Amino acid sequence: MVFGRESRFVDLHRSTWVEIDLNAIAYNINTIKNKMPNHTKVIAVVKADGYGHGSIPVAKKALDSGAEALAVALLEEALELRDAGITAPILVLGWVPPASAIIAAEQNITLTFFQQEWIQQVNTYSFTKPLKLHLKLDSGMGRIGIRTEEELHAILYALNKNSSIYLTGVYTHFATADEPESTYFDVQKKRFERGLSLLQDNWNGNLDIHIGNSASAIRLPEGMYNYIRFGIAMYGLYPSKAVKEQGDIELKQAFSLHSQLVHVKQIQAGDSISYGCTYTAKKEEWIGTIPIGYGDGWLRKMQGFSILINGKRMPIVGRICMDQTMVRLDRAYPVETKVTFIGHQNDAFIPMDEVSEYAETINYEIPCVINKRIPRIYKGL
Ligand SMILES: *Cc1c(COP(=O)(O)O)cnc(C)c1O
Repeated sequence: MVFGRESRFVDLHRSTWVEIDLNAIAYNINTIKNKMPNHTKVIAVVKADGYGHGSIPVAKKALDSGAEALAVALLEEALELRDAGITAPILVLGWVPPASAIIAAEQNITLTFFQQEWIQQVNTYSFTKPLKLHLKLDSGMGRIGIRTEEELHAILYALNKNSSIYLTGVYTHFATADEPESTYFDVQKKRFERGLSLLQDNWNGNLDIHIGNSASAIRLPEGMYNYIRFGIAMYGLYPSKAVKEQGDIELKQAFSLHSQLVHVKQIQAGDSISYGCTYTAKKEEWIGTIPIGYGDGWLRKMQGFSILINGKRMPIVGRICMDQTMVRLDRAYPVETKVTFIGHQNDAFIPMDEVSEYAETINYEIPCVINKRIPRIYKGL
């Protein structure tokens, strides 16, 4: 895909688009790398289509900018990256059916495992290429991973049975790394350290060790072992307010959302706008119509939020429809005037955090729900 208004109109009829600034992604990776010791490398987390930014261009840029490996949630997501010609190490963070281990091995995709029955099933397959596995320890997230010493011993016992299967890493995930209070984080860290030392007592061989997501890496850059799993902050978004305030790091938001006015009209006092007539003009007003709606993932809840036109905030009025949204203008503007929902316009800026706060959710969710109906256009490819 090409960046730029002119080229965009060559193949697009719709004037609503997401712009992804890949240079911001490179900047954020460099910024975190500069905070960490040299032995700690970056796994760029590009699950859920790169948090809605586009997994392939983000992965390529991340690898060009100093990331060493990639992580995704699903095997499908890893295969998509391989199909795009990406040869870097890829770790699948979620559970994969045992039978899928064969394709993972063929494609040199590392899987996460944590069940004895799973490894016993996988042991029965014959592989033509090595299968690499990372063991997941559940130190308190309560999602996936082994929780006891017994499980660890049982898994290690089952592991030696197929010479094509290699344990290459071990990791855990924190539940509260983004919170100001660190008691539970410390408990999890201790549990992981204990699990790790038991593992190392019973296993010789090099292991990639990783515990940190963005929040942990920002808060504890020296304590991250071999890798961090760098997700939200790579996209230039802070994992939480606490991390933004306490963590000494400057990030650049990569995602912005834009459209255009497609209709502009004057209405009279008493005239209403959109379904349910929830907005009625008190005086003569200019109203603009924008081709975006909840069918694109621009949530209905965003009614009343302000967006940028001509570098100024203007309120969304009336209900947001499936494909269209109305805005109250401070004067008449020509059709095709640019509208910005998220990101920079002239000197003004709408941060992702302001959108997610208004929608009563976290910043992670917003780019994920702005769906594929809105094309992503890349700057810095
Ligand atoms: C999504 C995910 C990450 C990335 O977390 P961020 O908060 O986005 O940095 C890291 N590790 C695991 C296991 C994940 O599922």
